Amino acid sequence: MPRLTRDEMRGRAQTVRGLVDPAVLGSTLMHEHLIWDLRPPPLRSGDQGEEPGLANHWGMTTSMAGSPANLHQPSAEVAIEAVAEAVAAGCETIVELTIGGISPDPEGLLRVSDATGCHIVMGCGHYVEEYQFPENHHRSVDDFAAEMVAQVQEGLWGTAVRAGLIGEIGCQNPWTPLERRVLEAALIAQQETGAALTIHPGRRQDQPQEVMEFIAARGGDPSRTIMDHIDRTIMDDDALFRLADTGVVLEWDLFGQESCLYPHNWDVDMPNDAGRLRAIRKVLDRGHRGQVVIAHDICHRSHMTRWGGWGYAHIHRNVLPLMRRRGFSEAEIREILVETPRRLLTFA
Ligand SMILES: [Zn+2]
Repeated sequence: MPRLTRDEMRGRAQTVRGLVDPAVLGSTLMHEHLIWDLRPPPLRSGDQGEEPGLANHWGMTTSMAGSPANLHQPSAEVAIEAVAEAVAAGCETIVELTIGGISPDPEGLLRVSDATGCHIVMGCGHYVEEYQFPENHHRSVDDFAAEMVAQVQEGLWGTAVRAGLIGEIGCQNPWTPLERRVLEAALIAQQETGAALTIHPGRRQDQPQEVMEFIAARGGDPSRTIMDHIDRTIMDDDALFRLADTGVVLEWDLFGQESCLYPHNWDVDMPNDAGRLRAIRKVLDRGHRGQVVIAHDICHRSHMTRWGGWGYAHIHRNVLPLMRRRGFSEAEIREILVETPRRLLTFA
């Protein structure tokens, strides 16, 4: 596959269909999964449990009673139907962060983009340690970095489809040595390609801060770094403001999830959508313009409308009217959905 040069990419964005003028991206969801396998590897064979349905919907969507079957969405046809709903509601670009360990399907996403007209920007790199390929334990920082550079400049996972940003790079609490090596490699790949970097932090309130210190020590650029899953990670204003002061872009990406029962971390009070907007309001009022993006991070089939969930159109259909009722200006909404994503997705 031909290798794009830094000069060919600078000032442009890269979707699954190729390089584009960033002006075409429009209204953008910065963190979704369209085709994925989030089953922990030991659960990928054997009994897959119940299919998501009406009778088990509450347990499936809250993860209080999930099944492996609910964590696996391999169908491009299902994704096409779901993305078409988002496009009809006003979504123009979806950032798809299914990466190494959770079964990325670049050619499937190309079909989804062709069928729906939605721009799809893919991530690259590797997710949290439990999902990583066994051979990754023996790989060096330079090896991971070279792989990510090639995924941006040449192609992803043996295809000609290229990545448009790096991540979601998986970090946990406690943060493992393998995950640190992958993030260190991602920083090298970011410097070589000019791509933005998006990070899945561990579930502890100051873990994102730990990640930002790691990045600062290695000369990373916080303004081209996105900290995902703020909604399930940071509960108090001091921690939120301290993180915002690093200059990182904060991502509230669990819109639609409204359960206070969060089995992955019982210590957090997961906000509902109004609570998310209150937190975003505080950050904007403190002057952090251009540091907020949003999404749904759909990764259970029961989150999708076909299985009774809110789906990828929820932000455009339901949250934007709520933002207007809560006093967000059109300029603020445009900054969150259009301008900040466009800046991030434009190669430096
Ligand atoms: Zn994700």
